[in-house]
Amino acid sequence: MNVHPLPPSALKGEGMTSQRARDRLAVKLKDEGIRDQRVIDVIRNTPRHHFIDQALHSRAYENTALPIGHGQTISQPWVVARMTEALLEFGMPQKVLEIGTGSGYQAVVLAQLVPQVYTVERIEELLRQARRRFRQLGLSNIRSRHDDGKLGWADEAPFDAIILTAAGDAIPHAVLDQLSPTGVLVAPVGSPSNQTLIRMRGDGQGDFVQEELAAVSFVPLLGGIG
Ligand code: SAH
Repeated sequence: MNVHPLPPSALKGEGMTSQRARDRLAVKLKDEGIRDQRVIDVIRNTPRHHFIDQALHSRAYENTALPIGHGQTISQPWVVARMTEALLEFGMPQKVLEIGTGSGYQAVVLAQLVPQVYTVERIEELLRQARRRFRQLGLSNIRSRHDDGKLGWADEAPFDAIILTAAGDAIPHAVLDQLSPTGVLVAPVGSPSNQTLIRMRGDGQGDFVQEELAAVSFVPLLGGIG
């Protein structure tokens, strides 16, 4: 059960923005190995076309990343699903930090599943648009901040779960320091041509167990604000 379902008015649409297109995407995610039905249901009920330019609406429910301006992309639905299910696998996190708000889609998927989402974006214009979408969808459990996400969000730490949606060579120290001792972090790590989705899980003693989940392709984690 979603803790914060979107209002029915969020799902109005026609043609390729219809429920049928979302249902097809949900089947594809299942076929491609996504197992958490809560995550599949949330993606089925989230209007991804609201997060991209009108010219791309006919492609909103394809399983591909799409441009959102400023050289950035909205992630592929399968990747959003895989990262979300990996974050929730060991129990429901109460406070989740996302680095890289982008279109706001991943934050909106999370906000329907967990009590509180914090998201940080370095490009002000993208954040402004994402905030408008959060308001339009009636979600009040997302807090967002214009900042360099490599610094995390110290005032709100610790977080039970952290998700990075841009890839760096390593997880920034400040971000890892803000993970609770038994928290879960999911992030793409590596160079632009060779990235791996990793999950780190705190063992409660200050150490982390690290796993590799998939090969992925994300935009780079940059420093400073844009
Ligand atoms: N989660 C997004 C994916 C956006 S792409 C979505 O669902 O649409 C990754 C985003 O990370 C871009 O918007 C980019 O500007 C942002 N980003 C890159 N480096 C960052 C940093 N150091 N701090 C905050 N955001 C960053």
